[in-house]
Amino acid sequence: MTVDRRGFFKLAGLTVLGLELPVLGAAQKPGKPLEEPLEGRRWGMVVDLAACHEHPECTRCIEACNHAHNVPRIPDRKHEIKWIWKEPFGHAFPSQGSRYLPEDLAEKPALLMCNHCDNPPCVRVCPTQATWKREDGVVMMDWHRCIGCRYCIAACPYGSRSFNWVDPRQYLKEPNPDFPTRTKGVVEKCNLCEERLAEGRVPACVEACPYGALHFGDLADPDSPVRRLLEERFAIRRKPGLGTEPQVFYLV
Ligand code: SF4
Repeated sequence: MTVDRRGFFKLAGLTVLGLELPVLGAAQKPGKPLEEPLEGRRWGMVVDLAACHEHPECTRCIEACNHAHNVPRIPDRKHEIKWIWKEPFGHAFPSQGSRYLPEDLAEKPALLMCNHCDNPPCVRVCPTQATWKREDGVVMMDWHRCIGCRYCIAACPYGSRSFNWVDPRQYLKEPNPDFPTRTKGVVEKCNLCEERLAEGRVPACVEACPYGALHFGDLADPDSPVRRLLEERFAIRRKPGLGTEPQVFYLV
C-alpha cells in the first residue's frame, strides 16, 4: 500500500468519523503542519501568470515540489520526469494564440502541472485503476498498481504524466525519506500534495512561492479566496475545448 492510498484512507476515515476538520483559505500558508487534514469539496489551483512573469528566473516552486516528492533531475530530456514545470505561454495555451499575440508573451514561461481534471481521460483509460479521482477532485496514482502500459500518458492532452524509462533513484541527490521513490517502468505525476493535505498543509509549491503567484483552495466554496480571485480577475484554462474541465486556472 502506498502513501497515496494511506493518505487517502486517512483523510476518508476521519471524514467518515465525522471529526471536525479545518477549512482551508486559499492564501493559507501555515508555518508548521496542522494536526488535522484539510477539508475541501473540490480542490483546485489558481496561478497568477502576471506575478509569475515578474520573476521569470524563479524556480522555487519547482524545487520545493521536486524535493518533497523525490522527482529526479535526469539530464537526458527524453527521460525527463515532470510534476511542475515551465513552458512558453504560446505552447501551453495554443487556443489563446493568434498572429497578433505579442511575441514576448508567447515566449514567457507558464507554470504547468496536472490539472486534476473534473473529467480526466487518464483515469478512464487505465486498465488497472492505478489512477483514480477522489471525491475532493485530486487525481491520484498508485505506483504499485501501475503496469507501465502508458495509456494514461497517451490520454492526457497536457503532457502532465511522465514515464520512468530508467531507474529514477540514481538521479536523486538527497532523497526525501518521508516520500516514496519510484522504480523504472511506472508513470508518475503531480498529486496535488495529497500527503500534505492529509497533514493540514497546503501544497509545497504554494508554500514555497515567495511572490504570491500560486493559490490553492476549495473551488466549491463560493467564499474561498480562490473563488474570489476567479470572480475578480479574468482566468483561462489549458485546452478548455477538450471537455476535460481542468481545475488549474490561470489569471491573465
Ligand atoms: Fe489526467 Fe492529464 Fe487531466 Fe492530470 S491533466 S487529470 S494527468 S488528463
